[in-house]
Amino acid sequence: MPFEIIIMFTLPNLPYDYVALEPYIDEETMRLHHDKHHGAYVKNLNEILAGQEELLKMEVEELLQNLDKVPADLKQNVINNGGQHYNHSLFWEIMSPEYDQKPEGEILTAINKDFGSVEKFQEEFEKKALGRFGSGWIWLVVKNGKLEIMDTVNGDSPVILGLTPVLGLDIWEHAYYLKYRNMRIDYVKAWWRVVNWKRVGELYKEVKG
Ligand code: MN
Repeated sequence: MPFEIIIMFTLPNLPYDYVALEPYIDEETMRLHHDKHHGAYVKNLNEILAGQEELLKMEVEELLQNLDKVPADLKQNVINNGGQHYNHSLFWEIMSPEYDQKPEGEILTAINKDFGSVEKFQEEFEKKALGRFGSGWIWLVVKNGKLEIMDTVNGDSPVILGLTPVLGLDIWEHAYYLKYRNMRIDYVKAWWRVVNWKRVGELYKEVKG
């Protein structure tokens, strides 16, 4: 059998245990969300791009920034599944079992400058999270040197728009419905407790260059 290199997108491991974000994000949600939902997006993406070696060897961020290289009939599926692969990979990274972290340093200075205070930033972020009808994500991105809150629908990602998010909240019902049912606000309030501000601060520095 000839030697064959198989290039594929892979599901990243969680940087902590499934139970690590309890009681804020429950174990069952984490297992389903990571293994089944994120796992399916990765599997779908590989199947959609089967045989497209040039695209399969890209990092997912690069793929989303080069959608013009994706065949037209595959594009929406790549946006959906590739976007979700990127979004979830970031989502796991910006949560931490080190609860109740606070923004510090440059990201704190930027939040104060662009939103007035951390509290005002959180209020605006929550408003966006409650106002988003249906499935999607709420983001903190750097745009023209300033922090901005934005939302995207379904599997869309700020990366497709050329923006790099430093913080993202999944508000698809699969992210919270087992524990929080219809109370999206309770999920958002609990999620603040597990935000990995240390990592968000590092991402902010990278994006600012
Ligand atoms: Mn999700």
